[in-house]
Amino acid sequence: MQKWIDVIRLANNGNLNPDQRIEKSEEEWKSLLTEEQFYVTRKKGTERAHSSEMCNLFEPGKYACVCCNTVLFDSEEKFQSGTGWPSFTQPIKENTINYIKDVTFGMYRIETTCSTCDAHLGHVFQDGPMPSGLRFCINAVALKKVKSDEKKVTFGGGCFWCTEAMFQQLKGVVNVESGYSGGEIINPTYREVCSGTTGHAEVIEITYLPSEISFEDLVKIHLTTHNPTTINKQGADRGTQYRSIIFYRTDDEKMQALKVIEDVQSAYDDMIVTEVKMFEHFHKAEANHQDYYNRNSETGYCMAVINPKLAKLKSLYQDKLKK
Ligand SMILES: [Zn+2]
Repeated sequence: MQKWIDVIRLANNGNLNPDQRIEKSEEEWKSLLTEEQFYVTRKKGTERAHSSEMCNLFEPGKYACVCCNTVLFDSEEKFQSGTGWPSFTQPIKENTINYIKDVTFGMYRIETTCSTCDAHLGHVFQDGPMPSGLRFCINAVALKKVKSDEKKVTFGGGCFWCTEAMFQQLKGVVNVESGYSGGEIINPTYREVCSGTTGHAEVIEITYLPSEISFEDLVKIHLTTHNPTTINKQGADRGTQYRSIIFYRTDDEKMQALKVIEDVQSAYDDMIVTEVKMFEHFHKAEANHQDYYNRNSETGYCMAVINPKLAKLKSLYQDKLKK
């Protein structure tokens, strides 16, 4: 996650390399863009505050550069700033935005541009919400909403090496990432979370297609493939970081999660203690924790602990697995 100090460093020392570059002449851009899009993105213009509906749009999806279609922001990082311009707390990837010192109009500001095509987007300020503390103040005409049917859900059920390996097997699951949610500090490390003092749970963030697998199905599979009746404990792992937890993003999801817990309760002798909490932020874990099972399936831990869990998943949900 980028913070103000990172932005300053990049503006001072040079920006990260983009995945690709797109360069066109002024005439070419002019022919591709509306007059207002050209004025804002190619001439560093600013649209009138409150001139776009996009400020009040918070449904899931992604936002791309209007000039080159590079995806720049995720709606998960969008917030209501009240400024009259669409506001985000973080770019979708660290190398999609360039930071440039801007001293025009007698102010000292940091301009944001698209690193792929140099489109002017807006500015970034250090008065945004935590955990990043950043406010990307972006012209709505510099962005276009990309339609996406994908949704995200975040679960904790003990060691994320195990839960990640299981949910990767399911049809309709596009991506699974391991990380930390539900704690206090910003960008915790594995070591800090393992100390049990940060309040984070080890979680997985699942990106899925609701047309292929429902939120209820995912919750049911979660509750029946780990033990949701043990407090701060999963198998041999003990500590609050291993607690059973479901993060919801809407009131609808909250009601659905509570309903599934009620339905699944009869399968257990002990009471389900799974926490149902509003999603706030997902901190992606270090690279060596991602896709752990597939990269380490021959190790003792994977064979002794994860293989039996995968076998259980297979026996319970054969019809929901990828071919
Ligand atoms: Zn661009």
